[in-house]
Amino acid sequence: MGVFGIAVAPKSEINAAAETYSALFALQHRGQESCGIATSHKGIINFHKDMGLVPDVFTAKHLEALQGNLALGHVNYLTADGNQRVNAQPLVLSHINGNLAVAHNGALVNGLKLRNEMERRGGIFYTTSDAEIIAHLVVRERVWADSIEDAVKRTMQYLSGAYSVIMLSRNKLIAFRDPNGFRPLCMGKIDDSIVFASESCALDAIGAEFVRDIEPGEIVTVENGAVNSMKSGINARKSACVFEYIYFARPDSVIDGVSVDESRKEAGRCLARHNTVDADVVIGVPDSGLSAALGFAEESGIPYGVGFIKNRYIGRTFIQPSQGQRQRSVKIKLNAIAAAVRGKRVIMVDDSIVRGTTCARIVSLLREAGATEVHMRVSSPPFLHPCFFGTDVPDREVLIAHNHNLEEIREIIGADSLDYLHFEDLPQVVKGMNLDFCHACFTGDYSVEVPNKVEKQGLEEGVSTCEQ
Ligand code: AMP
Repeated sequence: MGVFGIAVAPKSEINAAAETYSALFALQHRGQESCGIATSHKGIINFHKDMGLVPDVFTAKHLEALQGNLALGHVNYLTADGNQRVNAQPLVLSHINGNLAVAHNGALVNGLKLRNEMERRGGIFYTTSDAEIIAHLVVRERVWADSIEDAVKRTMQYLSGAYSVIMLSRNKLIAFRDPNGFRPLCMGKIDDSIVFASESCALDAIGAEFVRDIEPGEIVTVENGAVNSMKSGINARKSACVFEYIYFARPDSVIDGVSVDESRKEAGRCLARHNTVDADVVIGVPDSGLSAALGFAEESGIPYGVGFIKNRYIGRTFIQPSQGQRQRSVKIKLNAIAAAVRGKRVIMVDDSIVRGTTCARIVSLLREAGATEVHMRVSSPPFLHPCFFGTDVPDREVLIAHNHNLEEIREIIGADSLDYLHFEDLPQVVKGMNLDFCHACFTGDYSVEVPNKVEKQGLEEGVSTCEQ
């Protein structure tokens, strides 16, 4: 998921909705299922959202109708909750003092529990999104708080898990990041206007200058051009998601002080240092494997080649709902360039193996294209534990590395050899990062308490949405 917000300075000519559209376009890799924009104009929040990619959901007419100097945008990807229109964000709701729009990136660990508690007291929910839980709590706390940011601060005491949130009230844009700092969130400036975004590539897209990352536990408010920051005061282990560097983020983004491209190249170099096989060419699986392959080639001296062509016009394979569909769409999405690999011993670098479906397919694509050997190198350690913080890998049983050892995985995917990034190399890969990172998917060492399977299933049974 990706979020973006802009507070246009009082005398500026910048069009908030149009800038949000461009920024969402740059964040499209973070979610292709649905998207939306909300703007605040004269105390009223207008919005448009739907299923689909940003250019499909918005026409010039939609953007024209979205007037106002404060805007908020969201791109959503399919989660285990299902592909439902009602879950498209920003979520816009009315409360006793007006309107509120909320866009959330991440996943609450205690979301179901909070929802269940509220429902027991008669609370009504329209969606299954965490954004709605957060909105309910902020509105409830606002009754006792001096300001909306104070209400956010109070709300943060209840929340556990990953949340990088941007909210829009009548006259304020509010951005806040959970105390662990799981998901990225940064701030930029375009003249005197302030913007917030999941990734710095969205700032580049609209010509905004990067100012800084929002700190874990920080709440930043913009009102009439003035920026205010406060701290939640919650003490938590810093744990920015390392998978942002490995897979999620765009290589042109810089997150918490580290270039995504540079971290991927470094992962490739680390892999090359452990390499024991000889090969004719190193290729990367687009897109997230490319930088790592370049790093591998640089370090090993084996020539870099372009071995695959990716069809840009379909979404990521992983977001297809069923295993069958996932297998089929890999074929449509990626093709090997036979001239680049025929008769060659190939080292193929990809960012991760989750279920194992994708890499088995691409290894056979290379063999069909004439590669004589395929050596797979993975620029992350084995994915062994479920993630509860928004990467949508909820169940350990689906993880190939949980159920199989290295040799078994090599055999299943059909590679001649297989190696993963060594866990000990991870700090080197994100060297210079100004936060500690979350590595729970590799180690099972979660920095917040996570629900067990039985507990989770029990709470999930009570959750339903209003279909649209
Ligand atoms: P598979 O092993 O078939 O499950 O697919 C692994 C591929 O999916 C990797 O090469 C990544 O490009 C991509 N991927 C990894 N993690 C995720 C994730 N959390 N969500 C979506 N795609 C992912």
